[in-house]
Formats: sequence, structure tokens, C-alpha cells
Amino acid sequence: MTPYLFTPPAVPSVAIRGKDEQFPINRLFFVGRNYHAHAVEMGKPVDKSVERPFYFTKAPQTLTPSGSTVAYPPETKNYHFEMELVVAIGKAGFRVKAEDAHTVIYGYAAGLDMTRRDLQLVARDKGRPWDLGKDVEHSSVCSEIVPMPGVVIERGAIELSVNGAVKQKSDVDKLIWNIREIIADLSLFYHLQPGDLIYTGTPEGVGAVLPGDKITGSVEGVGGVELTVGPKA
Ligand code: MN
Repeated sequence: MTPYLFTPPAVPSVAIRGKDEQFPINRLFFVGRNYHAHAVEMGKPVDKSVERPFYFTKAPQTLTPSGSTVAYPPETKNYHFEMELVVAIGKAGFRVKAEDAHTVIYGYAAGLDMTRRDLQLVARDKGRPWDLGKDVEHSSVCSEIVPMPGVVIERGAIELSVNGAVKQKSDVDKLIWNIREIIADLSLFYHLQPGDLIYTGTPEGVGAVLPGDKITGSVEGVGGVELTVGPKA
């Protein structure tokens, strides 16, 4: 084996409910503006009849297990939560038809797409990449993956609270592009691989957290996710 100059970083992975094996992570995809009420609160309503979904990615190294405490990140004054249903891909797929989308699904998780909103909005409004706002260290929080091979989730309550106060409350049936449509569209651009996670977008009610805050979220039929915001980095 070719030696490395230094020990490579470990493969990021997520626990799987009921299994000893970890789910190794390949890529992290995120759908932007996928609930109408959230698109409106961001000042960018979506007209599905003339628009296609869009995506951004984060480094797999941003993955953080549910239950973690993470430092309030640097260079932001507006660190936001976004509660999301996460699809775990278990089979390779390219140009997957919507009616076949279930065949590449391994399972689901509850996730948080933590965001430096101030930096994301500057980037968005100046036409710059979103990386400094979105690709934040420790910002891709993920619960254990629940194996549900071949299952397409079409509805279920999605909620998030901060310090016990409800901030986001919606239903997965309000996704603008549903899970079949997302897999079909995303797989036009990428060869989906086992280990890819797709964060499907957040409903309305996003907001800021502060050091000491505890975030708890859930997706009906999948489970919960938790994050505690620690002192500033
Ligand atoms: Mn998001």
C-alpha cells in the first residue's frame, strides 16, 4: 500500500439504528428553499412551474452526531438552525426516474443544517458562493439513520424547539419537491453513491441561537436530533 505522509482523517460516519455497523459518509447534499413558507421568509418565493430545485454541498467533515455540544462558530453574529429530514442513499443511481427513486433509498435521519445566516445572505446578495455561510465546521448535525430501504416518506410532522420553545412546526408533505422528485433531479447532475446524504430543506421559522442554547428537533416516524451550542470558538 502506498504510504501517506500523515495519517488520513477517519471516514465520517453515522450510527445506524439496530446495527453495529456505521453508515460511512460519501457526500452531503442540501436542497435549498424546499418549503414555500421558508422560501417566503427568506424573501425568495418559489414558483415550481418555472423553477427547478437547487443544491449546495458541505464537506462530509462537517458531519456532527446528534447529542453533541459544538462551539458557537467564528465570524458570525447570526447562527441559525434549520430542521430537516435527511435521506440516506444506499445504492448507486444516475438519472434515476422518479418512479424508481425508492430503489436507492437506504433510510432516513433527522438533521440540522446549521447556518451562518449573516454570511449566507451577504454571499447570496453579492452573487458569491455560499460556503462561508453553509459549509461551517460541525454544522451538519445528523441523528442515527433509521433503515427503511425502499420507503418513500411522503408526510409526517417536522418540528424544532430551542430550550423547549417550539420554533419550527410543519409537515414533510409540504416539501415543494418531494423525495422522489429530489432524487430524480439531483441524480441528473451527480452519480448518487451509497453513503450520500440528502438534507431535504427546512420549513419556516428558522432563527438564531446563542451559546448555551439547546436545540431539539424531530421528524415523525424517523426520530429526534439534538444539539447544544457551546461557548464561542
Ligand atoms: Mn437547509
